[in-house]
Amino acid sequence: MRRISIFGATGSIGQNTIDLIARNSAAYHVVALTGGRNVAQLAKDARQLRAEIAVTADEALLPDLRERLSGTGIEAAAGAEALVEAARRPADWVMSAIVGAAGLPPGLAALETGATLALANKESMVCAGPLVMGTAKAHGSAVLPVDSEHSAVFQALIGEDLDAVERVIITASGGAFRDWPLEKLAEATPEQAATHPNWDMGQRITIDSASMFNKALEVIETKEFFDIDPDLIEVVVHPESMIHALVGFRDGALMAHVGPPDMRHAIGFALHHPQRQELPVERLDLVKLGQFTFRAACETRWPALRLAREVMRTGGLSGAVFNAAKERALDAFIEKRIGFTRMAAVVEETLNRVSGEGSLIHAGITLDNVRQADHFARVTADEIMKQQ
Ligand code: NAD
Ligand code: MG
Repeated sequence: MRRISIFGATGSIGQNTIDLIARNSAAYHVVALTGGRNVAQLAKDARQLRAEIAVTADEALLPDLRERLSGTGIEAAAGAEALVEAARRPADWVMSAIVGAAGLPPGLAALETGATLALANKESMVCAGPLVMGTAKAHGSAVLPVDSEHSAVFQALIGEDLDAVERVIITASGGAFRDWPLEKLAEATPEQAATHPNWDMGQRITIDSASMFNKALEVIETKEFFDIDPDLIEVVVHPESMIHALVGFRDGALMAHVGPPDMRHAIGFALHHPQRQELPVERLDLVKLGQFTFRAACETRWPALRLAREVMRTGGLSGAVFNAAKERALDAFIEKRIGFTRMAAVVEETLNRVSGEGSLIHAGITLDNVRQADHFARVTADEIMKQQ
């Protein structure tokens, strides 16, 4: 039996992972399941999958979780440290599907045990790509991408020589506002931004799709994951979301990964790698689909894409600053303290203030330094938003 753990089990990716596991539960022994505030869901899944331990990120919810698991023999724990401890329990395969920078410490802890890390938490790669990949290398563990674009690139690269890669194109649906007039964007509400035309995802990533911060994070993730020159990475708007990424080679060949917008493909690919096993995803009827369309990803409409290029140029801890400022700006947008188009302005201003000579951005990429950069960026972004 394969020992598996799911971090962020109660979220969209976590629930899709559980869907796949539950279809063949005899093949898996579930070690840890973790969640945020939805302890009812967490306890239900832990009971169903007979997990060893369930961990909630919120310490105040520990009594509630304990109560729901009483008599089952399943351990209950809470808090950030408990998440890392759960990640240290031996497992063969660990799903990293917490949203935000909070996913980094448990992901690193899992890699230190030698587990294979299925990485949905793109923020880990943006904040600390070299640390994640270096930890994996040092402990002989594998990192497999779960983000659909990166799973697509990974699959297109199987058996290929990285030196032969001429370009990598990742697609973007364009999110909720791709057809809105530019001048209306400033008035967009969180409710409007949280409806995605094609994918059913968590609230934060759905809003990040509308602002293209999600794609900006993914461009950086592509660079870090595959060690690709930023100049070779392109973004194209593809409203149908059927082609997830394309890899172009020096002989002119362009390998596209095509499939329905269903995360169970990328999750299942990472779960069964290096084999391919049958997955419950829709098979496309190309004739019925008729056509695929593409548009340029305009940096005026989506300034986050321009900022991602800046971050890749600056390097160091600027990815951690970018992500943390984005998380604070997103919180403020969700709470209706700032407008939709202010988010990118706040992130840009934070990057500007935090850069400069002798800035902490140029310190080494260690977990401590990432935490410091993250904290400093959050404080700076909050200050910027208070001043407006
Ligand atoms: P979600 O909001 O649906 O779920 C997030 C999970 O993390 C939940 O279990 C939540 O309880 C937990 N969580 C939230 N804050 C936490 C904290 N501070 N500490 C510990 N746990 C916390 O998000 P999602 O859409 O499932 O996305 C998860 C990750 O996968 C994100 O990094 C996202 O960018 C990435 N991703 C998601 C999709 C998708 O289709 N949903 C696709 C590609 C990548
Ligand atoms: Mg993606």
